[in-house]
Amino acid sequence: ALSPEPAYLQGLNPPQREAVLTTDGPVLVLAGAGTGKTAALTARLAHLIATRRAWPSQILAVTFTNKAAREMKARVSAISGGAIEGMPWLGTFHSVAARMLRTHAELVGLQSNFTILDTDDQLRVLKQLIAAANLDEKRWPARQLAGLIDRWKNRGWTPEQVDAGEAEAFAAGRGAELYEQYQARLRTLNACDFGDLLLHMLRIFRKHDDILERYRDRFRYILVDEYQDTNQGQYEWLKLLAEPRRNLCCVGDDDQSIYSWRGAEVANILRFERDFPGAAVIRLEQNYRSTSHILAAADGLIAHNSGRLGKTLWTDRGDGEKVRVIGVWDGPEEARRVGEEIESFQARGGSLDDIAILVRAQFQTREFEERFIAIGLSYQIIGGFRFYERAEIRDAIAYLRLIAQPADDLAFERIVNQPKRGLGDKAVAAIHRHARATQLPLLMAAAQMLDSDEMTPQARRSLGRFVGDVMSWRDKAGSLPHPELARIVLEESGYTTMLQADRSAESAGRLENLAELTRAMEEYENLGAFLEHVSLVMDNDEARQGERVTIMTIHAAKGLEFDTVFLPGWEEGVFPSQRAMDEGGLASLEEERRLAYVAITRARRKATIFHAANRRIYGQWTSSIPSRFLGELPKENIDEGTTMTGGESLWRAQWSERTDPFAHLAAAQSNRASTRGPGWQRASRGGTFNSEPQRVIEARASAVSLGNKGRDDLAL
Ligand code: ATP
Ligand code: MG
Repeated sequence: ALSPEPAYLQGLNPPQREAVLTTDGPVLVLAGAGTGKTAALTARLAHLIATRRAWPSQILAVTFTNKAAREMKARVSAISGGAIEGMPWLGTFHSVAARMLRTHAELVGLQSNFTILDTDDQLRVLKQLIAAANLDEKRWPARQLAGLIDRWKNRGWTPEQVDAGEAEAFAAGRGAELYEQYQARLRTLNACDFGDLLLHMLRIFRKHDDILERYRDRFRYILVDEYQDTNQGQYEWLKLLAEPRRNLCCVGDDDQSIYSWRGAEVANILRFERDFPGAAVIRLEQNYRSTSHILAAADGLIAHNSGRLGKTLWTDRGDGEKVRVIGVWDGPEEARRVGEEIESFQARGGSLDDIAILVRAQFQTREFEERFIAIGLSYQIIGGFRFYERAEIRDAIAYLRLIAQPADDLAFERIVNQPKRGLGDKAVAAIHRHARATQLPLLMAAAQMLDSDEMTPQARRSLGRFVGDVMSWRDKAGSLPHPELARIVLEESGYTTMLQADRSAESAGRLENLAELTRAMEEYENLGAFLEHVSLVMDNDEARQGERVTIMTIHAAKGLEFDTVFLPGWEEGVFPSQRAMDEGGLASLEEERRLAYVAITRARRKATIFHAANRRIYGQWTSSIPSRFLGELPKENIDEGTTMTGGESLWRAQWSERTDPFAHLAAAQSNRASTRGPGWQRASRGGTFNSEPQRVIEARASAVSLGNKGRDDLAL
């Protein structure tokens, strides 16, 4: 008689089974969202162990996040009844490479107890090198160099391999030289950065056949999830390890490639079939996650991208609800509305754990957080800090606190040298001594020390400027509206300039957060009321147990699923993101669209998209243009509504004008005029239009001129 089928195979469909049972040789599973790729990969892992094809320790499984690794471990333990001896090598590229490198560190000039630098440490080292090279750090910021080095490492380049054209990008060709010095410095520090982990192992593999052989021998099977987001270095690393046994199974979805800004290359999917001829390519078409309207909406949207590998998706989970598209008046209403929906869901017995709010950019979380705190709804932010805990926000608040309350020593300490003004530990220690001796707050003590010789003349000058600035801001606080004051403080303190000089994606996000902060301030009568609000919010921040709504970026939500998903801010400039489009034209637009696809496909049963008619930008109410992605959703799969009165649904007409790519702008202009109701006028200060249409036109024009270049490599 046949023995009963093992539990891990039960319920899998035929192509999923094929992905599990084709144990030997290269396997590529290419399939859309929610088709059970990760499920199949997990079952494969269980199968390899259960059938004794390999010991757990002979399997290498790579996931995209540590969280995903933990989940897969849990799933494997559950499948195998917890009875597996040893554990597979299961983790992110970085964690697996770090584990290997500990054993071989001496081969790249490190000791096995090397430290892994975080971003701050890394920047400090680079700053020193830039200064030592007699370069102006303002002109050539460390962060930019860090970005470049990271990019080179993602491609697997050592300093000698840096492309001459690329090296030009920093300080007239000195990039590669600085990269080399940086590596030397890391060696003396017995340290490496994130990018090194993989690169060092690559170099070791290339140089030391015996070591490579050992790992090749060890890893009978290699499994990779989210394969579409691997970069060139990771691909080479995998390829080295997988040859010659070639038991490599990768699963991915070209439509979910959303990390090209970090060096990921979808082309790796095509390369796979070339480098591993005879690979079994398996396509999964049944989606088990979402109901049919959700799936069809996502499908219709992604169909607007060019250069796709293409796929069919279906579900038997029933039609379900249409995707709702709701137009609201402004940001606060968006947050209020989401809060109401969640409360009524809760009242019907729903669990907060089933709900996610997925945003395009970090700054968008603020309005939801404030609303949820106000109505007492538990939430968690994944993959980032709560708004008021973010470093730049805390810095800005510290400035404001010091202005409102000069005796606030904690605030003083936080910002006296932030941005850097040459007031290091020594100077601060001297101020502390004086403050203790005189029983004065730090700011007052500092003011008294301006002609003491306890500090270098340079530190005194700089402290004098700082104290003077704080005093002048205190003066202005009496006469200026407090959001205006905040903007001036950020400007005059050099804080904004510091972030602008960074030119990294991260600091652009920080600038957005600061803009959001000044926007938030407008909701309070004065600075005192605002600061009071902040301390109450912060007090609310202790981790809560139990059910809670999840707020995160779409990037962080990759691979996850939720019963109910809210997608706010689908407006031009927010999503698609103006910042991304400015940088990359049409290729970026397509990446934004893939992000939108990832966003919608996280939902099992219910997806609700919001767009606001007005957003406050730098103190001005400006009308928003609904995201072009809304017009790309098939009409039959969405339910449109608006909480506003009057013909607001013109947006569909705008975006269906396909003949003239800019026609919608004209329509938007006239729509804009017609939506200026009394509310708009009351709320607006100054009442001028922003430069949004101009920026959209420019972005679109550059997209058109870029043509399809970015993704040509994908055209099949
Ligand atoms: P993504 O592209 O978003 O990463 P995925 O292809 O990895 O999605 P999974 O997360 O593995 O998809 O599966 C989606 C959902 O479908 C999960 O809830 C999973 O448990 C379920 N599922 C997968 N395969 C099956 C199956 N054969 N029968 C029933 N449910 C399944
Ligand atoms: Mg998955």
